[in-house]
Amino acid sequence: MPERGVARILIPEQEIRMIVETLGLEITRHYRKTGGELLVVGLLKGSFIFMADLVRAVEYPLTIDFLAVSSYGEATVSSGKVAVKMDIGGSIEGKNLLLVEDIVDTGHTFQKVIRLLEARNPLSLKTCTLLSKPSRREVDVRIDFCGRDIPDEFVCGYGLDYAQKYRNLPYIGILGTTGA
Ligand code: 5GP
Repeated sequence: MPERGVARILIPEQEIRMIVETLGLEITRHYRKTGGELLVVGLLKGSFIFMADLVRAVEYPLTIDFLAVSSYGEATVSSGKVAVKMDIGGSIEGKNLLLVEDIVDTGHTFQKVIRLLEARNPLSLKTCTLLSKPSRREVDVRIDFCGRDIPDEFVCGYGLDYAQKYRNLPYIGILGTTGA
């Protein structure tokens, strides 16, 4: 039975596990080929559960960090500005960086964060998202490792929130009108 407010389960726990395992294999394969130091950076808060599972599915030495950002607002979207609420601990120069996001919707957030991190001269920058809504895309953002495309529905659970709630659901669900 879904939690109160959740209309239906879109991705059950078992399917999430399979998606994460597959991503882990792809990422492992990639970095075993390229070699070098790997830093996995999760975008807070939504990616925290996905990050925890993903890094355990990667069989390659790595370190982790987190970044929290907020957009300045619609007026500055095109300027590529993003406010850093909590920054990465150290320098990323010379490191292979894997940026991890929970969901890419219009793509604005991810694009701005990619630009911000590229300006800091990592050796390489790859991107990974658990979910993507391609029909909602407004900017062409590069996703190297994508868990699953989903339709244009508002989802929550497995780290994703609605008004800061539902992050602890073990599955990804679609909110009903009573939950919104
Ligand atoms: P974008 O800048 O790509 O439009 O939006 C990205 C951010 O919007 C995500 O990091 C996430 O915080 C939020 N977001 C977009 N779609 C959803 C959704 O379906 N559910 C939840 N919980 N957050 C979403």
